[in-house]
Amino acid sequence: MTLQTSVAAEHASGAAYPVSSMALIVHKYGGTSMGSTERIRNVAKRVAKWARAGHQLVVVPSAMSGETNRLLGLAKELAPAKSSDATNRELDMLAATGEQASSALLAIALQAEGMGSVSYAGWQVPILTNSAYTKARIQSIDDQRIRADLAAGKVVIVTGFQGIDGEGHITTLGRGGSDTSAVAVAAAMKADECLIYTDVDGVYTTDPRVVPEARRLHTVSFEEMLEMASMGSKVLQIRSVEFAGKYKVPLRVLSSFTPWDIDINEEARSGTLITFEEDEKMEQAVVSGIAFNRDEAKISVVGVPDKPGIAYQILGAVAEANIEVDMIIQNISKDGKTDFSFTVNRNDFARALDLLKDKVAPALGAKEVIGDTKICKVSIVGIGMRSHVGIASKMFRALSEEGINIQMISTSEIKTSVVIDEKYMELAVRALHKAFDLDQPAA
Ligand code: ASP
Ligand code: MG
Repeated sequence: MTLQTSVAAEHASGAAYPVSSMALIVHKYGGTSMGSTERIRNVAKRVAKWARAGHQLVVVPSAMSGETNRLLGLAKELAPAKSSDATNRELDMLAATGEQASSALLAIALQAEGMGSVSYAGWQVPILTNSAYTKARIQSIDDQRIRADLAAGKVVIVTGFQGIDGEGHITTLGRGGSDTSAVAVAAAMKADECLIYTDVDGVYTTDPRVVPEARRLHTVSFEEMLEMASMGSKVLQIRSVEFAGKYKVPLRVLSSFTPWDIDINEEARSGTLITFEEDEKMEQAVVSGIAFNRDEAKISVVGVPDKPGIAYQILGAVAEANIEVDMIIQNISKDGKTDFSFTVNRNDFARALDLLKDKVAPALGAKEVIGDTKICKVSIVGIGMRSHVGIASKMFRALSEEGINIQMISTSEIKTSVVIDEKYMELAVRALHKAFDLDQPAA
């Protein structure tokens, strides 16, 4: 069935399925969870426990941890230069083997546990994607074969991260893409829940390595999750969150390092449930989390004439070079001149800077182009911000009390972000976490 027509309307509430009754469940296991034969055996025991409780199980594993990097590293040794379409095709051929191996190993482990199981590569399902090698997008999933095996009482393993395009070429979905595979399979099959087993036990108010008092959220709205994922909280691949939102897939992030034989009801309620807007939010905090991101760099085009078309000429050239822009600010003009600043990913920084210095600035008659890579973006995120005033000012006060200078600000309905000097990142995150009472248990 095509995903466009498979909206799981009955899941609009995102309500947890009754664990006692028979449900269709998708499990996704990350690379660390699949990292050794011992861990794969543990995954098999956990999956078998769910299947024996009467549920139908589709499991989407990542490659064993480090495997995708290892494979892509080999390719890099042979072809360190720029990528071509022909090379990208082979990179997908190569990288897809990681998931093929882990999937087969999991099926073997399940069979050894006495549980019928079969694994399918993306092309065998098939999971149809577009042809954008190394970053393909899923277009449709045919679930017939999977359904037949489930009906026959088997656990079905579907390789993560990969698919096949219309011409029969193997594609991959971008790094971290097996999250998206799992959510897409869950959407296409209208699964009762998609459980993402990973090496953390849920979504936290912020990174516990920065703020030890960070708390696990029992629920987080999908919109908040989307903002957090886009801002460097790398629990889930962002595409998978977009997918979950679009198709209303009930999604839960939970730990794969609990003992495999813990009570299934306890397991089903652990971790963080990603909920939908119309749900009653269990935790009514205005700000749900603090996200931060060290991946950006700032560029300013100084002294450009303040007249129509300037933003277009600067950002148009950047977009044409396929460079994504995040935050943008333009100062008010003084003597008919203005400064124009924006942020890009650090990987694109040098390219963007050269482009502006060599081509754009001279054409505009700008005074100079300056850049700074030692910045970070810190954001407060919460759907409660929609209905509360004074949240941004509270953020700015907390930062000013720490003597932290704000270089740029951007806001959306449910988040406020600031760019600050990189060296104050941890201080800022800690101050904001405290200012918004995120270290206190939710009321
Ligand atoms: N194995 C792929 C990667 O390392 C996909 C994934 O693990 O989600 O990016
Ligand atoms: Mg991952």
